[in-house]
Amino acid sequence: MMDQLGERFTGSFTQQEPIPEEGIEAALAVLRHGRLHRYNTAPGEVAEAALLEEEFAALTGAKYCLAVASGGYAMGCALRALEVGPGEPVLTNAFTLAPVPGAIAAAGATPIFVETTADLVIDFADLAEKARRTGARLLMLSHMRGHICDMSALMTLCRTLGLRVIEDCAHTMGAGWEGVASGRHGVMACYSMQTYKHINSGEGGFLISDDAELMARAILLSGSYMLYGKHRAAPPPEVFETVRMVTPNVSGRMDNLRAAILRPQLKVLGDRVARWERLYRHLEAGLQATPGLSLVARPAAEVFVGSSFQFLLPDWSPARIALFLQRAVARGVELKWFGAPEPVAFTSRYDHWRYARPQSLPRTDRILAGLIDLRLPLTFAPEDCDQIARIIRAEALAVGQGPEPEAVAAPAIQ
Ligand SMILES: *Cc1c(COP(=O)(O)O)cnc(C)c1O
Repeated sequence: MMDQLGERFTGSFTQQEPIPEEGIEAALAVLRHGRLHRYNTAPGEVAEAALLEEEFAALTGAKYCLAVASGGYAMGCALRALEVGPGEPVLTNAFTLAPVPGAIAAAGATPIFVETTADLVIDFADLAEKARRTGARLLMLSHMRGHICDMSALMTLCRTLGLRVIEDCAHTMGAGWEGVASGRHGVMACYSMQTYKHINSGEGGFLISDDAELMARAILLSGSYMLYGKHRAAPPPEVFETVRMVTPNVSGRMDNLRAAILRPQLKVLGDRVARWERLYRHLEAGLQATPGLSLVARPAAEVFVGSSFQFLLPDWSPARIALFLQRAVARGVELKWFGAPEPVAFTSRYDHWRYARPQSLPRTDRILAGLIDLRLPLTFAPEDCDQIARIIRAEALAVGQGPEPEAVAAPAIQ
């Protein structure tokens, strides 16, 4: 056995679990019959895509559900269903992932970034100020890395401000706030089934809503032609009458192959959430009371999905953080840094999204400068998380309390 300082983690931060056998069998059945397009059904057959939508609607309690090609597509589709106009300001979290401002820009609108609190959620005072200043009517609320703001307070504030809320639940599928599923507060909510999210079909997305007309528009937008009658978790045909000739087709459908892979995963989502919490709590316990390192408190009202973990190194210099990351990576612990000057792999920051008009968010800058992020795939065991915590703790102590280092380059992590 190596001593504690020398131990090295050998697991992979990017290895997800395999698709459940039931999903593999269902996928083979689709491949064998060959009807992959969701509207290509034999007489009396209900497409896998339609069943998937029905099952996700039941899981979240939403009236309607549409499965689409990606989470980013779901967000763009929601914005179009809400008839976002050219150049219209759309408020969103400054701390989010590139597909969020990307979806706003792709819909022809203008992303307006809102400040981030130390708990990594949207700053209500800044939201109110920017909503009033810009006259925005839409908020794309990103529950980035699974951190949910006080949803009751937010919805009250948004009602006062006249804001309609679209929820980006890419990191909160299976999560909740005060007993309500994440995605059930806003007028529409979007989810992703990309490999690193909570259910995996490589690519994929969901859009849910209780609003019949918005959902009819979304279904038409997604490329349903005049075959929307084949949907199950959809509004009745008469709702489509007023919108079917005036809604453009922006193809982004889900197919039966991916739907077949996803349906069995919905059944185990609750179990996955429990397993993720266990991993998260092991890591959290191992990092408790590490000098120089602060953890993000999880509110009691929140059910979260611990598919990733964040901590802060507040007021560390960039050189010190880069050295810390370099030493952690050398010991097999792949950490990502939201303060890196250049965007790396999946990690970029609002000031890297230069198609949006330049905006200054000093509070977010201060948070992101010290924000470290890691993935927790379900292929990890709780003991892996204990070991990762020991390595992070040891390096945070060594680097945090050592002399100010010379500038070093942060490692590039995929
Ligand atoms: C992954 C992700 C999305 C959407 O992703 P797709 O890759 O388009 O499915 C949206 N928001 C956040 C925060 C994400 O991490």
